[in-house]
Amino acid sequence: MTDVTLKYASRAVPRYTSYPTAPHFSPKFGRQTYAQWLETVDQTVPISLYLHVPFCESMCHYCGCYTKITKKEKPLQDYADMLVREVVLVASKLPAGQQVSHIHWGGGTPSILPHDAFLRVVNSIRTHFTFTDDMEHAIELDPRTVTPALAETLRLAGITRASLGVQDFDLKVQEVVGRVQPYELVKQAVDALRAEGINEINLDLMYGLPYQTRETIRNTVELTASLDPSRLALFGYAHVPWMKKHQRLIPEELLPGAAERIALFDDATEALEEHGYEKIGLDHFAKSDDPLAQAAREGNMRRNFQGYTTDEADILIGIGASSIGKMPQGYIQNSPDFAGWVRAVEAGELPIARGIAMDQDDRARAAIIMSIMTAYKVDVAAVARDFNVPIEPLRSCYLALDELVADGVCVRDGDQVSVTHQGRPLVRLVASAFDAYLQTGKGRHSVAV
Ligand code: SF4
Repeated sequence: MTDVTLKYASRAVPRYTSYPTAPHFSPKFGRQTYAQWLETVDQTVPISLYLHVPFCESMCHYCGCYTKITKKEKPLQDYADMLVREVVLVASKLPAGQQVSHIHWGGGTPSILPHDAFLRVVNSIRTHFTFTDDMEHAIELDPRTVTPALAETLRLAGITRASLGVQDFDLKVQEVVGRVQPYELVKQAVDALRAEGINEINLDLMYGLPYQTRETIRNTVELTASLDPSRLALFGYAHVPWMKKHQRLIPEELLPGAAERIALFDDATEALEEHGYEKIGLDHFAKSDDPLAQAAREGNMRRNFQGYTTDEADILIGIGASSIGKMPQGYIQNSPDFAGWVRAVEAGELPIARGIAMDQDDRARAAIIMSIMTAYKVDVAAVARDFNVPIEPLRSCYLALDELVADGVCVRDGDQVSVTHQGRPLVRLVASAFDAYLQTGKGRHSVAV
């Protein structure tokens, strides 16, 4: 930790999983525009699909996702039926047999779907799309839901990668955040997946939670590493109780301060590196032979709503309530209002609620921010040339970098900007200098570190 990191740690900035960021999507965006965008898709160029399942069995107090609680099967069966209808609807707007190279199931807890319902949705995707030979089929799992029967269902569905939320193995931490899942339970979940041949295992950890200490987080990393995941994420807890009311259950007075957060992150990072994991981008880790580590080394890594990824598709179609999609023309978000989403799908209408059409300036800034977030450097003049936009508006952003340059967070040499090694934890701040929407006052963001 450095004094400089501490100086900026509490500044609120977006995570830049998209640019423009979601608070700037407009409700005036029309579904007709999205339908026209879908008509332009080339059948031979593989796309990605994201399926959102906004249900969980219980609410974790730290949760930042869009989800609701259910313990009944009927709403889940109904939801799966609606997903099938939306898959058919979207497929009808795309070329027949559209190729797909990446499917990601997120939530919520996608594995909460009854097994027959999950397979029903997967089969409908198989019917309407063509899977590439090397397609990655990934799912986010709550270890508490993983049984040998679920693992078998996932194998039948063709799942190749599973991400399990661990967060922290310390019982006191688990209790205060409302998610108790002992090490043995997580190990059984990982073993069950591997027994079915699902060997690409990601584990997600979280720092910045109440009662975490440098000792407990090191212990969590040791236990996590013993499960031998191929990738890890180490996310900072984002305390946004004004947006997520249930986060009020987290006692604010127990939250670590900025300096402690940084120390927790540094200690966990050091321990992961001791176990041979390479640090990737802001908050991911991977074994050196993992495709994500290779992509990071070769400069091909991307960043999307799931974080850092090897997914190179330019088109991501979101399916399910509140899901977000991305097309070369802009972003689209499905209705987060459950009833509204159902009504639209039942009426055979694309169930979108918001979106944004990007202009050339947005695209250039998105490329700059993507480059800073993934490669820690950017040649602003080259981006301006590539996107055929005037460079002066981009150069005017350098003013916002001056203080960061003076503090050694980044270096600017003409139009070349690079984040220093010590500035890497603050990469979001460097990216934010090029965010033309940030000053418009929409959205309140989590802290920089
Ligand atoms: S399982 Fe995940 S999505 Fe569901 S409440 Fe917990 S953190 Fe949120």
